[in-house]
Formats: sequence, C-alpha cells, structure tokens
Amino acid sequence: MRVLLVGGGGREHALALGLAGDPAVSALIAAPGNPGIASVAELRPVNASDPSAVAALAVETAADLVVIGPEAPLVAGVADAVRAKGIAVFGPSAEAAQLEGSKAFAKDVMTAAGVPTARAYVCTDEESTARALDELGAPYVVKDDGLAAGKGVVVTDDRSAALAHAAECGRVVVEEFLDGPEVSLFVVTDGEAALPLLPAQDFKRIGNGDTGPNTGGMGAYAPLPWAPSDLVDGVMRDVVHPTLAEMRRRGNPFAGLLYVGLAMTATGPRVIEFNARFGDPETQVVLALLETPLGGLLHAAATGTLAEHPPLLWRDGSAVTVVLAAQGYPAAPRTGDVITGADRPGIIHAGTARRASDGALLSAGGRVLCGTATGPDLATARDAAYALVGGVELAGSQHRTDIAAAAIDGRITIPA
Ligand code: AMP
Repeated sequence: MRVLLVGGGGREHALALGLAGDPAVSALIAAPGNPGIASVAELRPVNASDPSAVAALAVETAADLVVIGPEAPLVAGVADAVRAKGIAVFGPSAEAAQLEGSKAFAKDVMTAAGVPTARAYVCTDEESTARALDELGAPYVVKDDGLAAGKGVVVTDDRSAALAHAAECGRVVVEEFLDGPEVSLFVVTDGEAALPLLPAQDFKRIGNGDTGPNTGGMGAYAPLPWAPSDLVDGVMRDVVHPTLAEMRRRGNPFAGLLYVGLAMTATGPRVIEFNARFGDPETQVVLALLETPLGGLLHAAATGTLAEHPPLLWRDGSAVTVVLAAQGYPAAPRTGDVITGADRPGIIHAGTARRASDGALLSAGGRVLCGTATGPDLATARDAAYALVGGVELAGSQHRTDIAAAAIDGRITIPA
C-alpha cells in the first residue's frame, strides 16, 4: 500500500512513524512533511490546504491511501477532492469536518443527538453576549466559532475580558463552565463502525499547574490510571454513536478520526469539543502504545470496512510526551534559532526546518518538538520523556515540568 500523508507537524510525525512501521505500507510520502518525518518518508512540497494540489499529488504518487493530518485541509475540502479521484482517504468531507470547523454546528449536532455537553448560546453582538455571560455565570467560557488552532477559547472570571474576546472574534459560542478533569478520546470511524483508541490527557495551558494562556497543547500521557473503567463504553454509547447517527441522518456521514474532548464532571462525562482529526500532542502517546498496524486500520476506515477490522491491540505500559516550545509562545513565538540534540529516537518534530546553507536544524514554529517515551508505568515514561527534552538545546525554549505529575501522584479527582 502506497500512503500519502498530508501535513507537517508533530501529529504527522507520529502518524508517519506509525505508518512506516506497518509492514503493509510499501511507500510513504509526506507533503509537506518536516525534517523529522524525512527520516521515514519521501517529502514532497504542497500547499496542504489546496484541494486540487493535494488530489493531483495523490494521483501523481499513485497513492492507495491519503491520510490527512490537520484540520484546515479537511475544512477546505481536501478529502472530497481526493475522494473524487477515486482514491481512499482517511479524513472527513468538508461538510462533516464542520463538527470541528464551527463550534455552533457542533453544538447543534450535539443537541439533536442528545449528547451531554455544556449549555451554550451562539452570540454575534455585545448585548446577546452579555446576556449569555450573566445567565451562565462565572467562570466565563467564550469560544471563537471558527477554526483557531485550539487558541480561540478564553476561560476567565473577568467579565470584561470575556466580552473583549467575544468582540474580537465576532461570532462566538458562550458556554457553561464544565468542571472536572479533561479526557481526549480518539475514535476511528468509517461513518458507521467505530473503534475507540486509548483515552489520553493533554495539557492546554502554557504554564505549570494549568496557568497562563491556552496553547495547541504542551504535553500528554496515556492511558489514564484515574479514569473509570466504563468510561470508553459509556462515551461510545452516549456520545459517539448518537453523533455518527445524527451525521448520517443529515446526509453527511463522518468518516475519519472523531476526537471527543470531554470533561469528567459530577454529572458524568460531558463533551467540551469535537475535532475532526487526531489531536496534537495526544497522538504521539496514543500511537506509541498502539500495536495494531496503523496503515491497515486507517485504510479500513477510509474504505468502509472497519466492521471487519480485528480488535485493536495495545502495548502494556504508559506513554508520555513533553512539548518544547519556542520563546514567546503562544503570543509571539521566536523562530529561526538553531536546535541541537534533537537527532534521537523519541524526538518528534513539530515546528522545525533545515537551513538550506548547511542543513542545521532550526526552530520554525511555536511548538518546536516533543520528547515521547514509553515505560512500564507512567512515572518511568515521564522521566524518559523529560530526559529526551532535557537533551535538546534551543535558546529561550520553554516547557512544562508537570506533565503527567498529578496522575502519577494520584491527585486527579472527578468532582462528586
Ligand atoms: P476547545 O478549543 O473547545 O477544546 O477549548 C480549549 C480548552 O478550553 C479546553 O481544552 C478546556 O480546557 C477549555 N474549555 C473549553 N470549553 C470549556 C468549558 N465549557 N468548560 C471548561 N473549560 C472549557
């Protein structure tokens, strides 16, 4: 099977490692890829969000399967363009990707499907926003309606900051605050059959102890030692299958990766958000534990044959990833600095580039790379991930020092 992987971040590096490790994958091409992905795939330049360019590349490279990593190409219709060429593609149609592309659309689907989530109002002006804030009360949650790379959400006790964010965004969803630890559950689906991956937890805020602004994600671990044993079955029953059924009913079946972001509240798991693709950096830890060959799994979802796929196999133990971010991230990341010590297994590249003149590795994005490690238990995996990140030098870089710490120390509790 020849596979074309679209994207060039940490998630795609993790996907590339998984695909390259599948004996059924005979050729792996990544577009545009990154310097880390280059060690396991042939790189081709492409504008990943240009549907006709990606479809043409899929034809040119004789791809049997196209795997689309990021959300922007999905929302732009890249999966539709590839499918129109008769090529199997892992990733939802533009219509179905609205589950991520519009928070208001996602809320509408959740309401119709009876999915437990936060009460919410879609607001487009100051008056309706103020009314919604006052009705729902503090802490205030205000979300940009459109794609914002995980950074369009403000959670604050400051009413004027909430109003200011809404004014900046235009159209927002104002939401009830959901109290409880968060879970990311990835579900591989062909629109009807659905296979859950291991639940993971990521760390959205820049600072230790979940302080500071939201980011794309600063670290992750899996599995979750504190999660109730019936969590996944319950979410499949109450969230995933009703949502997939509602999407089919609307004539826009969702096939690809349904990312369910949950809060474990006193009244049970409730959906914070849907995404239409693998989460970054949770993918790094979840795929590090997946033993089932990744190419075959994604191909089954892309071809509507997931019901015949064997049950997933997982490695014992735990995985942890720690993100190294550039100085100034998330507000104004500095790029172009030399990185040393990154040429080691377990280092996953996110925002890196090679300097043309001498091949030196440079920072080229906010989240630069991450150290991903597995171990027999969470503490061992965490120590190994920190050892990886500790061996990398990048001027001014930042990382959290408390990834997985609360889980290891048994400090995570679900509100009663
Ligand atoms: P989202 O882009 O919707 O995932 O939001 C980013 C982050 O904001 C989430 O991972 C949560 O940490 C936080 N968040 C979003 N919605 C809520 C909510 N209703 N209650 C509490 N926290 C939220």
